[in-house]
Amino acid sequence: MLLRTIFIGLSHNKPAQNLTVHFPPARKLARRFIAGETLDDAVRVVRELNKKGIKGLMNEVGEAITTREAATKAAAAFKTTLKRIADEGLDSSISMKPSHVGLTFGTDFFYDTVADVAETARALGNTIELDMEGSADVDATLEVFHRLLDDYGELRPKMAIQGYLHRTPADVEKIIARGGSIRLIKGAYQEPPEIAIQDHDAINQAMIRVMEMMLAPEAREKGAFLALGSHDPLLIEWLINETEKRGIPKDGFEIQMLQGIRRDEQVRLAQAGYTVRIYVPYGAEWYPYFMRRLAERPSNVLFMARAMFGG
Ligand SMILES: Cc1cc2nc3c(=O)[nH]c(=O)nc-3n(C[C@H](O)[C@H](O)[C@H](O)COP(=O)(O)OP(=O)(O)OC[C@H]3O[C@@H](n4cnc5c(N)ncnc54)[C@H](O)[C@@H]3O)c2cc1C
Repeated sequence: MLLRTIFIGLSHNKPAQNLTVHFPPARKLARRFIAGETLDDAVRVVRELNKKGIKGLMNEVGEAITTREAATKAAAAFKTTLKRIADEGLDSSISMKPSHVGLTFGTDFFYDTVADVAETARALGNTIELDMEGSADVDATLEVFHRLLDDYGELRPKMAIQGYLHRTPADVEKIIARGGSIRLIKGAYQEPPEIAIQDHDAINQAMIRVMEMMLAPEAREKGAFLALGSHDPLLIEWLINETEKRGIPKDGFEIQMLQGIRRDEQVRLAQAGYTVRIYVPYGAEWYPYFMRRLAERPSNVLFMARAMFGG
């Protein structure tokens, strides 16, 4: 817990960023989680995943941008990625972070930026997903997602929903009522107990409750679709057993994981016929994403520490 707090704190720290991005062992470890700094790098990674029967979910890293121009530029880059996916014949969609594409400038600006990308996705027969960030941004992000369902519902856009938030069952109920699609994840940010469940087992129980909501016959009849974004064997096994029990086919849900984590399991699940989609981040602004990955796993931090102190 302490390590998590430290690394989430470091994810916003400029001096630590400068140190880390120029530190070769850190760059080397980061390459496990990040495809590389260019779109070409991401295309290469997704092509290899596709060969193994695994789908991609490409994300040009970036967040907390401070100008409208930067948000518009980020949206243009996502459109380029969608075009590249089509040109290369890749099996991949894209995911965007709200604070990368304009959330900071109000929901109207944010919506317009996202809708612009959705328009390209529609023209190319693809779709989009939205990441979820800190709890202060959840209302605005969900508002924009519901607007997307109004205008681009046929694309089946997916919204990342954090199982650790106390509010999540109520938010999911509203998405189910619209027949929407979610990527259910535990949540990667540091949130206080009033806002988020802190205990690992209690978070898993909350995740299972949301999966039950999504898999209920009434939800599925409305068109609600569940992607579980997790590497947790317990949750993945629960989902596989539960869908089998309910007679839900293997393509009736999705399992998503992050690039570089449990790679053998990604292949094993795809070979067993499940739909597996891997989030492939790329781009120069990889530092905060990398810090969140370190925060999740003490052994990643130990690896870094050993490299730094020669142990
Ligand atoms: C596709 C996808 C998209 C995501 N999008 C978002 C988002 O939009 N917003 C958000 O807040 N969070 C997002 N996350 C992150 C998520 O919230 C969790 O922080 C992260 O997935 C770790 O939780 P876990 O479910 O894998 O379970 P955990 O209990 O953390 O991990 C289970 C097991 O997975 C492996 N593992 C997990 N993390 C790591 C790691 N960093 N390094 C090495 N091994 C690891 C370990 O074997 C661990 O025992 C996303 C995750 C995925 C998979």
